[in-house]
Amino acid sequence: MRSTLCRFTPVAVLALLGTAGLAACSSGDSAAGGGGGDAGDTVSVSTEVYPFTWLVTEIGGDRVEANQLMPANAEVHSFELSPRQVEQLGQADLAVVTAAVSPAVDAAIEQSPPGAVVDVADIISLRYADAHEHDEEAEEDDGHDHEEFDTHTWLALPELPKVATAIGEALAEINPDGADTYQANAAAVSERLTELDTAYRDGLATCDSRVFLITHPSFGYVADAYDLEQIGVTGLNEDTEPSPARVAEVSKLAEAEGASVVFFPATSNPKIADVLAAELGLEVNHLDELTAAEPGTDLIALAEENLTTLRGALGCS
Ligand SMILES: [Zn+2]
Repeated sequence: MRSTLCRFTPVAVLALLGTAGLAACSSGDSAAGGGGGDAGDTVSVSTEVYPFTWLVTEIGGDRVEANQLMPANAEVHSFELSPRQVEQLGQADLAVVTAAVSPAVDAAIEQSPPGAVVDVADIISLRYADAHEHDEEAEEDDGHDHEEFDTHTWLALPELPKVATAIGEALAEINPDGADTYQANAAAVSERLTELDTAYRDGLATCDSRVFLITHPSFGYVADAYDLEQIGVTGLNEDTEPSPARVAEVSKLAEAEGASVVFFPATSNPKIADVLAAELGLEVNHLDELTAAEPGTDLIALAEENLTTLRGALGCS
């Protein structure tokens, strides 16, 4: 595991230690390519959700150890951290998160900051809830921000290359010996992500319908990027069961807007989708939010499955 020196090295301490401090935290390039190498040389990265775990692993390879905070199949807006995870996050060299996705992660970072933070909300152009996604009960509550942004930043596909670059730069700053590797890997993954964006752009260019209903409105970035319109049933940053009144309201809206299909992300309650589908005579389709994938899953393959589902459901040629 990491040496005490590297476990938590705030910038100010690094400055005091100068290059000696940095060298102690770096991987030796001279080390023969033994699998895994010295565990003490790895950069520890806490990631919030699977898309960032995947990016960090693609870019950092064996030089990084990524610890994902959200357990597989948990709910992204409401998962809790164990005391052990809070400690691990505070000791990490880097955290890759989106502020406001998880109150538990935000609180832990404030309480015990990791060495550095890449906040994806600072990198991409944020989108804000539109009229179809507002949760009216939340809006009546004084405690809620009327301009809450859409925290599903990992679905901002055209902007993920920028996120890859930022992760590569952050890793290079922490571990300059690996800078060339991080830059090359970030460039390679960015190229694949750019091809994915092109596939979405081409694949969703000509469709019978551009409006869809979704139980939890997590695909707003996809809708915005490729000129589709999502009508969400719940609020943006929650995944709770809506009231019957809300379901009725959304049904009316979907009918008026000519929504032809209803989607539900993995963590949503499929019953809601079934109710809406029955009421409106729509077909239910599953979309993957990409947050709960098994370790090692290729994110791009998952996103391609979503594209196939979208194309089929919307009748794209
Ligand atoms: Zn969500």
